[in-house]
Amino acid sequence: PYILGNTYQNLRKLQSAHGGYDVGAESNYGDYEKDINLDIALLVGKQLKSYGYKVVYTRTSDSVSWSNDNVEDLQTRCDLAKKKNADLFVSIHLNSSEYDASGYEIYCDFNNKNTVKLSNSILKQLDQLYYSTNRGLLDTNETPLYVVANNEVDAILIEAGFISDDSDLYYLKNYTNNVATAIAKGIKKSLNE
Ligand SMILES: [Zn+2]
Repeated sequence: PYILGNTYQNLRKLQSAHGGYDVGAESNYGDYEKDINLDIALLVGKQLKSYGYKVVYTRTSDSVSWSNDNVEDLQTRCDLAKKKNADLFVSIHLNSSEYDASGYEIYCDFNNKNTVKLSNSILKQLDQLYYSTNRGLLDTNETPLYVVANNEVDAILIEAGFISDDSDLYYLKNYTNNVATAIAKGIKKSLNE
């Protein structure tokens, strides 16, 4: 993932990654990552709003405001987080592999205690759904991601599962709301602790 995602707090900014010209990864059946990311992001935002948080989306449909330039695309999303004074930037993605792989994982800056705590809180909620494997946290100091590195706001990137894995894909498509609610709950719990 080079990733851009979805959510924020007090201004949580939800970013549904990819979109428009950029379809992201593709399943064996022609599903685009960008569409499932968006479905999850919209539901996470809805849940966060119900908790009373203010939510800003980087996109709410497949039509995007930025150009077909990848860096401009990602920078526009980071700029929005700053402009909206977001407390948190959450990018939502799906993984893909040509090998047998499944599970969810979260990228964050291991030197940033807030985002490490937030990421662990989300993983804990996802664990309770029993839909796949917890692949843990990944350090963006080792795998730099544009939207984390270039964000002035605390940012994480969630890989909610593998679009290339039939079992992950089935759950993500049919129980999207469970995944979204777990993410929102993890965010809320982390902020309230
Ligand atoms: Zn992606």
